[in-house]
Amino acid sequence: MSQQQWIKTTCPYCGTGCGVEAKVASNGAVEVRGDASHPANRGLLCSKGSALGETVIKQGRLEHAYIKGHQESLDKALSYVASRFSQTIAEHGPESVAFYVSGQLLTEDYYVANKLIKGFIGCSNIDSNSRLCMSSAVAGHKRAFGEDIVPGSYEDLEHAQLVTLVGSNLAWCHPIVYQRLKRAKQANPNLKVVVIDPRRTDSCDIADLHLPLNGGSDVALFNGLLAYLSEHGKLDSDYIAQFTEGFEAAVASAVEDAGDLAALATTCGLEPEALLRFFQLFANNERCVTVFSQGVNQSSQGVDKVNAIINSHLATGKLGKLGASAFSITGQPNAMGGREVGALSNLLAGHLDYKPEHLEALSGFWNTSNLSQKPGHKAVDLFDKVAKGEIKAIWIMGTNPAVSLPESAKIREALLSCPMVVVSDCIAETDTTRYADVLLPAAGWGERDGTVTNSERMLSRQRAFVEAQGDTKPDWYLLSQVAQKMGFAEAFSYTSSADIFSEHAALSGLLAESGERLFNISELSGKDQQAFDAIEPQRWPVSKQGSDNRSLFSDGRFSTTSGKAQLIAVTNQATKQGTSDAFPLVLNTGRMRDQWHTMTRTGLAAQLTSHSSEPLLEVNSQDAANQGLCDNSIVSLSSNVGQLKVRIQVSEGQKAGHVFMPIHWTEQYSSDGLVSQVVDSSVDPLSGQPESKYTPVKLAAW
Ligand code: SF4
Repeated sequence: MSQQQWIKTTCPYCGTGCGVEAKVASNGAVEVRGDASHPANRGLLCSKGSALGETVIKQGRLEHAYIKGHQESLDKALSYVASRFSQTIAEHGPESVAFYVSGQLLTEDYYVANKLIKGFIGCSNIDSNSRLCMSSAVAGHKRAFGEDIVPGSYEDLEHAQLVTLVGSNLAWCHPIVYQRLKRAKQANPNLKVVVIDPRRTDSCDIADLHLPLNGGSDVALFNGLLAYLSEHGKLDSDYIAQFTEGFEAAVASAVEDAGDLAALATTCGLEPEALLRFFQLFANNERCVTVFSQGVNQSSQGVDKVNAIINSHLATGKLGKLGASAFSITGQPNAMGGREVGALSNLLAGHLDYKPEHLEALSGFWNTSNLSQKPGHKAVDLFDKVAKGEIKAIWIMGTNPAVSLPESAKIREALLSCPMVVVSDCIAETDTTRYADVLLPAAGWGERDGTVTNSERMLSRQRAFVEAQGDTKPDWYLLSQVAQKMGFAEAFSYTSSADIFSEHAALSGLLAESGERLFNISELSGKDQQAFDAIEPQRWPVSKQGSDNRSLFSDGRFSTTSGKAQLIAVTNQATKQGTSDAFPLVLNTGRMRDQWHTMTRTGLAAQLTSHSSEPLLEVNSQDAANQGLCDNSIVSLSSNVGQLKVRIQVSEGQKAGHVFMPIHWTEQYSSDGLVSQVVDSSVDPLSGQPESKYTPVKLAAW
């Protein structure tokens, strides 16, 4: 590896999946620039991507393995992990162990983790931090399309007449997608942008209409849209008849649920005229893209919200055409790669499901008789099982649940009580590593090599451009070594990420002749290291002719048993926790422009902390005045599960009755308490995704 060459890789932050070129300069500094040849970003990078060089550090890296605080050889630590997991399984059964993995992992790491626990240990207790991010979209896609498919692409934004952002602050959370949308609007002033979000965010800068709806009222709003489309003859009857099922029930439910415009406006906390304007824009434009993200997914009714959005597109045939799509935009760099390999407890590798013919085929492919036959525990439940002592050994990879999961104080107690906690990470000190019995040094960005899949199904390579430090190894290597030491040597004899990718690609072609699944990259299997290194960014499915860039579902064929898309009848439900006199405000949480997750990397880049140096609670002026508070007042923020101390920022962008706090700050950066201590752990009953956008809280002067 020449240190003077620009190496093409991808950004490890958001689901935009920008191509990056990186190299080590002669003074040892890591330089980065946007990859002009990458289709996702065409050379652009946001502030986080531009500062990547500052995050490739030597100090603070986890370079060696530790057992109970003592540095050990990596081999000894891996043997210890294997023997403790084997012993726990022998004494308490396979359900007594678990993996908690991450959208930060590469697809190859994810694949091996999933194969080991589901295929050979024989239980499905593997969940990903993607549960906090995309699991409602996954469940909604599967209900509507029969498969977890994101049909849209970034190019759709450039061909749309109407782009609606629902629960997405695209300007901060997917900045380069936002830049593409902004440029599209500059090039075509007729392109309308609507933002549906309780907050007036920076994404509203290009909005023709902002609908600051009440938190949790999205199903009502989209049911209202479907009812309006039906009432005004704006449906596509041919499309509905040819390609869908469930229309009658869905529209009946929507009409009953929405009521008249005045009632709907009250439910949503909006002006009737503003609602009507949105409905008319959607009804009167052929090419509509609805982009949705965490504001939709992180809800106790997240899956219904996803289906309410998709229903409107199916009923109007605004799907599977250039510039027309319901587009779930993914939070993490590889949340979709994890979904491809089944690294959520309710999924199987290769988009297979827990049904007899799929289980049989997968057992045969992996040559195992021990494949788990049923889904495992989803993240919140999984840590409850740790707290109850039912899960006695857990391996956490590349994520920081002591900060990121709701009711984090409970998570910390669970980790403290667990007999065996293994953490593999590239950073030595995080809020989670302090609970580790065993620390394993994992390769970080710049050292590791493999693939990721972004929000628009584009598979790209991450490539190494610096030498690994100390004993650091990729997660797939750590997992394979433990698997071999547990007695599964033959199935885990991988020597490179190219080997693993080849197997993953081959698996995607399993049962392909059944026509049940669209995810298929089997044409990419069998590549040697050189060919793997040469893989260019491409969207799946990949056929003999190459990457398939058409809009998926353009032929009206879906992955359901009948081949037809399903409209789902949904009704607006109250949130699990409602506001009350004791907790009158709604806490919404989310990201800042320049930080990423729990700041273990972005916190290292000085230029990124200048945007916001501390977590601030955004409060509407009316709510602040009601409490006798003003800008910079220090308050206690409390819910029924916890309390913290925070400075407030009075913001007119904040809807009255709603407050907002960022998710990033950890104990390392703020001693006043974590927002996750306050967030309630109510979840969607179908997806298990926590309701991180709606926790009833109260404020009081500190
Ligand atoms: Fe990285 Fe996302 Fe910024 Fe692109 S938009 S540079 S993927 S953080």
